Amino acid sequence: MYDNLGKIGAKPKEGLEWTLLSGFLIEIPSDKGSTLEVVSLATGTKCIGKNSMSSLGNVVNDSHAEVLARRAFLRYVYSEIKRAHNNESSVLFSGYDGKRKCCLRKDVKFHMFTSHVPCGDASIIPIVGTKRKYEAESIEDVHRTGAKCLPGDARQDLKISGHNYHVVSSVRTKPGRGDPTLSVSCSDKIAKWLYVGIQGALLSLLINGPLLISTITIGGGGQYDSGVLHRALIERSRLSDTCSVIPKIYRSKLVFCHSRYSVTSASKPCTSSIIWYKGLSGKRQFEVAVEGKKQGCTKTGPSKNNLSVTKKEFLKVFLEFSNFNGDPGYRQAKDLATEYQAKVKYFKDTLGSWPVKDPKLECFFST
Ligand SMILES: [Zn+2]
Repeated sequence: MYDNLGKIGAKPKEGLEWTLLSGFLIEIPSDKGSTLEVVSLATGTKCIGKNSMSSLGNVVNDSHAEVLARRAFLRYVYSEIKRAHNNESSVLFSGYDGKRKCCLRKDVKFHMFTSHVPCGDASIIPIVGTKRKYEAESIEDVHRTGAKCLPGDARQDLKISGHNYHVVSSVRTKPGRGDPTLSVSCSDKIAKWLYVGIQGALLSLLINGPLLISTITIGGGGQYDSGVLHRALIERSRLSDTCSVIPKIYRSKLVFCHSRYSVTSASKPCTSSIIWYKGLSGKRQFEVAVEGKKQGCTKTGPSKNNLSVTKKEFLKVFLEFSNFNGDPGYRQAKDLATEYQAKVKYFKDTLGSWPVKDPKLECFFST
């Protein structure tokens, strides 16, 4: 799929830059077994600092590939809702419960691919020497992550040499220098999606039940530790106690062609992102983003220049399918999802900490 996009400027410069790639796939049962299809794809390595965040909902704060691919996946789900209303979707069907909620068709499954181990807790991987791996006392050191524990969290990295440099299982912000970010690491976000579903608050008002991920596949190259991944994505939220679907985690042997493991060590992260989802309309079949905005657009540009995966565009497409009269505003619309929000709160309480967003950043309307 990535290769099908051809040679485009938003891909890393050959041999000089690298990027991260993530995507979501859908598995639909068929007579011959089941079909697997990529429905969203994104690349990206960057995250904006808190001073660049917009209170208009038109800038994407977090452009790590996993996060963009999940947002693109949400757009794909909206396009399936539209198809379901015309009885044309093999994924969803219109609900009969009078609430106009759609339901997932039987045995439809969702899968996630990512070219690398997610940033944050899953990246604190023991450096294995000659001793055995899983005996705590035998771990001499761990790989470092630039993702920091939340300010104010009682658990902070000790930063002493050896394997106690980091504390584990903590919620962390995205790694990066300069203006600090409020976005949490991909390990934390994926743990949340596994726990509450990938649909988010707004779609939870339009679809019955959570959309749960059945498998996660990590691309080849670089460090990998299945025990650490389980801790970061599954165990620390006590997912097994509450969730009906415990995802299986796999590792691919294939190394992504533009990953940091397939180019020279001198290369830099690519600053632009590619966003694609099935059903994306418009002239180009994908969007290119730089610093959370559509490439070439100013911050105050007209809304048609917004990326399709901004909060503002999500509010618009949500209002198209919901039976609201008027626009309640983004934050207010999200707060209507009481069942979903209760589950999110339970998840955050289990992890022990989570950054609190400034409510002013979500007080915008669709127009
Ligand atoms: Zn990340």
